[in-house]
Amino acid sequence: MQNKGFQVRNGVLHADDIPLPRLAAEYDTPLYVYSARLIRDNINRLKAALGKDVLIAYATKANTNGAILSLMAKNGLGADVVSGGELRRALLAGIPADKIVFSGVGKTDAELVLAMQNGIAQINIESGAELERLVDLSPKFMTARQTLRVAFRLNPDVETDTTHAKISTGHGRSKFGMPADEIRRLYKGMIGHATIKPAGLSLHIGSQLTTLDPLRDAFHRLADLARDLPVETLDFGGGLGIVYTDEKPVDLDGYGALVREILAPLGAKLITEPGRFLVGNAGVLLTRVTHLKTTPNRPMLILDAGMNDLMRPALYDAIHTIQPVTVKKGKSQIFDVAGPVCESSDIFLRDTEMVAPERNDLMALMNAGAYGLSMAGTYNSRPLPAEILVDGENHAVIRQRQTFDDIIKDERTPDWLNA
Ligand SMILES: *Cc1c(COP(=O)(O)O)cnc(C)c1O
Repeated sequence: MQNKGFQVRNGVLHADDIPLPRLAAEYDTPLYVYSARLIRDNINRLKAALGKDVLIAYATKANTNGAILSLMAKNGLGADVVSGGELRRALLAGIPADKIVFSGVGKTDAELVLAMQNGIAQINIESGAELERLVDLSPKFMTARQTLRVAFRLNPDVETDTTHAKISTGHGRSKFGMPADEIRRLYKGMIGHATIKPAGLSLHIGSQLTTLDPLRDAFHRLADLARDLPVETLDFGGGLGIVYTDEKPVDLDGYGALVREILAPLGAKLITEPGRFLVGNAGVLLTRVTHLKTTPNRPMLILDAGMNDLMRPALYDAIHTIQPVTVKKGKSQIFDVAGPVCESSDIFLRDTEMVAPERNDLMALMNAGAYGLSMAGTYNSRPLPAEILVDGENHAVIRQRQTFDDIIKDERTPDWLNA
């Protein structure tokens, strides 16, 4: 049996076949570590559930590292991008343009032009205003023979009660997508247009979905709309949840069945945009205990990783469980776990139970492969962590640790300030 992902062997947490203390010794902490085997496994499980006719367009914002994108390209995946920068990264990593879709509510002219010049599969438009801009821009870049394919993003107006408000996107007052009536009108108005082809519909109702009910409702609304229109593609978005704490794992086969029952019969090319599902459980943030702080309430573990490195707890109240890298024996105690950043929200966990760690002990913040480094910043002038990709017994640095000089290199102090 192959070791894949993050498992304890002989009392030590490994990434695939590599013990994490080895990586910490070589590359220091905080350190993102990813398992290529687990990413491949996630890809294969999703492919098995959906069948091979569905284009899996990896939502690159979940983890934008070029090596991760190359891994996706190698496995035949496309990409869902939300900026010109992500589009360029996807192309650089070898993802073919005809497997790239471009989503987002506020694409700039420069980004739309970049998409047209590269001939991507489709632009998922989110408003009549965006369509008007494409009508103005497209004649310069597209022709009747090579039209710009656009899909209209439906706001299906469904609630997703399992997701945090800040990652819910498919309810009536969200900024994403358009109501069905508006799409019907705009779509029909574009049929026969010289340079723009209304090619399909898209939706994405939110992230970290762990039940299928909101997706079922949304898919039915997408299908209802599709029946009224000549659609060639149906993009049913991402959003599949993963297990962070005690969530029930999402029913992948049930998901596949929904797609086959509701969307496949419409005869359109199907596209999905998973992000978190492919990479979330395949990464950890390896960190060291700086020290234990006693407080009048709970003892507090202060880590060398902070909210700038992993923002999800501060931003979404997300929980990343913490695991000692070397299993310790002894009586367990209750701790709070915090980073060093000067913000009250730089708390990773409250009331978590573990055997008391010591100064310099290695700990892993689990399930940090999605929306971890891609959301990280340098607040408090903290350099971005390095990233390591492990693949069985192989490993490599896929992003060097940032240095202090990297952080300040773009800043200038005007002469007149010192004159
Ligand atoms: C972020 C995003 C995704 C991916 O969401 P996950 O929850 O990570 O699967 C897919 N589509 C769009 C349009 C997105 O903005």
